[in-house]
Amino acid sequence: MAKKLARKKSTGASRIAPPASKNKFVYLFGRKTDGNGSMKALLGGKGANLGEMCRIGLPVPPGFTVTTEVCTYYYANKRTYPAQLKGQMEAGIAAIEQQTGKKFGDLKNPLLVSVRSGARDSMPGMMDTILNLGLNDQTVEALATKTGNARFAWDCYRRFVQMYGDVVLGVQKRPDEDHEPFEVVIEKLKHERYHQDIEDTKLSVADLQELVRRFKALVKERVGQNFPASPWDQLMGAIGAVFGSWMNDRAIVYRRKYNIPTEWGTAVNVQAMVYGNTGERSGSGVAFTRNPANGVKEFYGEFLINAQGEDVVAGVRTPEPVAELKKQMPEAYAELERIRQTLEKHFKDVQDFEFTIEDDDVYMLQTRNGKRTAMAALKFSMDMYKEKLIDWKTAVMRNPADQLEQLLAPVFDTAEVAKAKAIASGLPAGPGAASGQIYLNADRAVVAADRGEKVLLVRVETSPEDLRGMIAAEGILTARGGVSSHAALVARQMGKVCVCGAAAIEVDYQARTVKADGRTFKEGDWMSIDGTIGQVYAGQVKTAPSEIVAGLINGNEAAKKTEKFKHFQQLMKWCSDASRMSVRTNADTPEQAANAVAFGAVGIGLTRTEHMFFEGDRIDAMREMILAETVEERKAALAKLLPYQREDFAGIFRALKGYPATIRFLDPPLHEFLPHTKQQQEELAKKIGVPAARIHQRVEQLHEFNPMLGFRGCRLGIGYPEISAMQARAVFEAAADVQKEGIKVRPEIMIPLVGFKKELDLQIEVVHQAAREVQAEKKIKLNYMVGTMIEIPRGALTADEIAQSAEFFSFGTNDLTQTGLGMSRDDSGSFLPHYQELEIVKKNPFATIDVTGVGQLVEIAVAKGRGARPNLKLGICGEHGGDPASIHFFEKVGLDYVSCSPYRVPVARLAAAQAALQGRQ
Ligand code: ADP
Ligand code: MG
Ligand code: MG
Repeated sequence: MAKKLARKKSTGASRIAPPASKNKFVYLFGRKTDGNGSMKALLGGKGANLGEMCRIGLPVPPGFTVTTEVCTYYYANKRTYPAQLKGQMEAGIAAIEQQTGKKFGDLKNPLLVSVRSGARDSMPGMMDTILNLGLNDQTVEALATKTGNARFAWDCYRRFVQMYGDVVLGVQKRPDEDHEPFEVVIEKLKHERYHQDIEDTKLSVADLQELVRRFKALVKERVGQNFPASPWDQLMGAIGAVFGSWMNDRAIVYRRKYNIPTEWGTAVNVQAMVYGNTGERSGSGVAFTRNPANGVKEFYGEFLINAQGEDVVAGVRTPEPVAELKKQMPEAYAELERIRQTLEKHFKDVQDFEFTIEDDDVYMLQTRNGKRTAMAALKFSMDMYKEKLIDWKTAVMRNPADQLEQLLAPVFDTAEVAKAKAIASGLPAGPGAASGQIYLNADRAVVAADRGEKVLLVRVETSPEDLRGMIAAEGILTARGGVSSHAALVARQMGKVCVCGAAAIEVDYQARTVKADGRTFKEGDWMSIDGTIGQVYAGQVKTAPSEIVAGLINGNEAAKKTEKFKHFQQLMKWCSDASRMSVRTNADTPEQAANAVAFGAVGIGLTRTEHMFFEGDRIDAMREMILAETVEERKAALAKLLPYQREDFAGIFRALKGYPATIRFLDPPLHEFLPHTKQQQEELAKKIGVPAARIHQRVEQLHEFNPMLGFRGCRLGIGYPEISAMQARAVFEAAADVQKEGIKVRPEIMIPLVGFKKELDLQIEVVHQAAREVQAEKKIKLNYMVGTMIEIPRGALTADEIAQSAEFFSFGTNDLTQTGLGMSRDDSGSFLPHYQELEIVKKNPFATIDVTGVGQLVEIAVAKGRGARPNLKLGICGEHGGDPASIHFFEKVGLDYVSCSPYRVPVARLAAAQAALQGRQ
């Protein structure tokens, strides 16, 4: 190929996307490049970056991109193409022909192309690529003659028929088959002719010719039609298959998991082939500019000599580390090193790239920001900051908030590991520790996980069909495949613990066993893998807290000295610098509160007092209170509860060291506290000296058809003001006690489920009354606030009235979602998954806030609330307070803080910082 031409920088390299002409469906890259890296929506990630690489002078084989708009058109118009497409593609092929000096379908010097899918976000393994397109019985001879390498020509042809047969014509593994049909044909021929499993590279010209014949016969048998011979028919068929694959099951599953909208569509890239399979001076590889598993700054990747790209990615042969190239092809290695530097300097992020070496010349076929584990992301961001490649704000943005929890995940306990039996080792592809019962197939893994088992998926290698099983598994172990194998790729992306290429394990799909170290493991047996170092152990191995948890929560000094811990703390500090919102925690005990403070929470956003009534003897006093028939009886029972509550609150105030604590008054329906079986009722009767019949009657009486909308929330305190009075007294007595110890105390009393201003007013009066009494008794001045939860639509809609009385709002987005959608969270399991499949809801509204619906209620309440009381403090304490996507919304509407469970605090801090940085851009 005319390499020099392709390398020359295109002229007029402007960063501004050319105006997308309405009828432009084909964008060239090569000597003339129409697109650039910013055009991912139109050209897909692959196409946009192929253009970008051409623009910065990297050696890219020329080609063109068919835009994502064609995909959209295709599905909107009964799977047809816009009229102008064919002509534009002909011009595209002509441009490639001109640059390479080859001709599509030519009988002297045939041009072969690859047809590659490329969505906006890379979807590894989801879409299928076809290589060597343009070959038929005539052009293969021409290629053989032209190159003087018949083996190479026939190797290309057999690959082409196999890939095209699989991807375009659908000759694939049937549900009852364990192996791909084309692979079965290859195995059979190898055994017939060599009586063993030789490497593909050892197949002779005659073998390859025979394979092509058998492949075509297989296609004819399965599809009932001849393999297409015309290059243009092949090309149009391939394009249709790429667009068709956008709607295949695997792609749909993947999109759902990563919330990629169906409307985006995929682009298709048609590109001149370069050949990694011409002999020993050629090869294909995948590399990262730094190590994507642990973050170390080293050239990291692998390659296969005399192979085309799909061999590397498919994990069929285990490739060699890229460092080996230094010995085998020093010039090519030096060129790759240069490319590595260029890529990082230009993209300012770690790149994952694909290359092919054809007779010592290096060609770039793809680059993208490398998927990375949370551990690598943290190290990359800190190192690149130190190298002055990025600033601290970019460093914050580079850590994906929803992955951060991986850093807190347990590791194997050192003492336990010493006792465990190491049975194999492989590549450390996904850091972390995982123990599980082994399953050798994705379906059985899913079923076992549904049963509640911890599952370890063990495969020779994984493929996209295994995705469901990989999602269900704690960890993934493969016998074959390198760091860029499918298993490693998915592990990095999903944060799964993974060891791959553990060659010492023998996986027998038929017998459903794994042999290792002289032992046989059956499905259901336990194994453990350490994906940080690549070790495989027999049996279950106990885990220990990660360095970060050990350092922050347990005060472990050795842990604090680790790089991981220091980097984490640096990141958290930057988060504080960047954030506008603060992060509080939902905590019901002093221990939870202390943990959250160690993680950087600056207060409690929600203490659920009812949790305090379930422990030990308290539940009996609680039940007595509920069963009381007179106010006096109820007060007597409440008096027993008071000291417990006071001690709980005191503990929490101490743990908070001066940070504010939002305390929610009793919320759930009373029947939740009562015994429901006859036996339990009789036991209680004896204990508290009340007839069992009365207990039974009271339980019946409290039964509600719709407890979620029943006698609960502030309705309880309004029905029985003495309950709220007791709770308020407990809060203030505890506050007075702790304040006298010299610790600042800032209680914020929160009245739940308010829909009417009057409800709040009645409760506020009870609270103030208790405050006046305690302050007088204890001769102390207390600083407190009274506010409400906004968690039913009427409360949100009348927030202006409510804010006249409330000093703060906290959005209870769990109930606000239930009542706003009219959907019970606990009952949604029977229909919500189906709703997500149909994309009626894009995400689970109980996990990520429904911005368009419930979000409006929040916005209205914020506007009306602040309108009535400009300094109204606003927070959120629903499940959504720890969800990064929801946190972005809360930043936008201007809340003061989010509150979430203690172990989510770092995630929320990172998300809050990122939301603030993004908002300022
Ligand atoms: P994926 O998105 O699954 O990575 P690609 O389109 O990147 O699929 O193709 C997979 C591999 O096929 C590439 O890494 C590369 O090695 C090989 N390949 C694609 N196009 C070409 C080409 N024009 N010449 C040589 N190899 C190619
Ligand atoms: Mg690729
Ligand atoms: Mg609620």
